[in-house]
Amino acid sequence: EKERREMRDELGIIAEGTEVPPPIDSFAAMKLPRALVRRLDEDGIVKPTPIQMQGLPVILSGRDMIGVAFTGSGKTLSFLLPLLMACASAEMKAPLTRGTGPVGLVLCPSRELARQTYEVLIKFSNALTMPSNAAGAGGETPFRNLVHMLCMGGVDAKPQMDQLRVEPVHGMIATPGRLKDYLNRRRITLSRCTYLCLDEADRMILDNESGGFEEDIRHVLSFFEGRRQTVMFSATMPTKIKDFAKSALIEPIMVNVGRAGA
Ligand code: ADP
Ligand code: MG
Repeated sequence: EKERREMRDELGIIAEGTEVPPPIDSFAAMKLPRALVRRLDEDGIVKPTPIQMQGLPVILSGRDMIGVAFTGSGKTLSFLLPLLMACASAEMKAPLTRGTGPVGLVLCPSRELARQTYEVLIKFSNALTMPSNAAGAGGETPFRNLVHMLCMGGVDAKPQMDQLRVEPVHGMIATPGRLKDYLNRRRITLSRCTYLCLDEADRMILDNESGGFEEDIRHVLSFFEGRRQTVMFSATMPTKIKDFAKSALIEPIMVNVGRAGA
């Protein structure tokens, strides 16, 4: 315990909550698949940043988390790697069938951020190939990639909807407004969704430019069924965000890096 505290102090990590898992200073030691660690390596991502050292063990252990860290500190991979692991593990347990999914959902305050996040997800997802249902049948390859979807306004929705009818979707990156539309029209369900990330939660909830998505987010939350792990990232922690976290997260661990939001 003392060792953990010293490691956190050295890295400028503050972790609050019950039974916080220790920080881990290598991706390989986090039990991520080797192919994924290799793919990170190829991209120059060799050593985890402080938010990744503490955030990944917390999220991979299944706990709800609030992450507060400055811009450029590597928050994206802190929530996307666990999303990939959740998708892979769901697919291994009970393969998603046509028209089901997502298993993991990320909500973003802007289309631009949603698109960037989606691109990072695709890049690292392709390092993971899953055994296919159709192994050996009809000359299909025995492995397939996880499938992800970008759900946001301003793009032609038809290809997305066509995709959703013919194949399962594992990960979904969405803006709250567009997702709410699809949920209301029963185009998407969240019945198998077990992992939710709210990125830039302060922007999504407080920012009037993005329309103040709080109502939309709460509406999206109402579509979840069964157990859900919720993680939330925010640059600041004003009362409104704290209140939101209290209502949407269960016994969260708060991880604060580099005095961001202090
Ligand atoms: P933010 O915390 O602002 O969301 P990002 O997740 O977008 O930050 O990461 C910022 C940049 O740092 C990205 O270009 C990303 O590829 C890079 N990056 C993330 N993690 C690492 C790492 N462990 N080592 C090196 N570069 C990293
Ligand atoms: Mg970010």
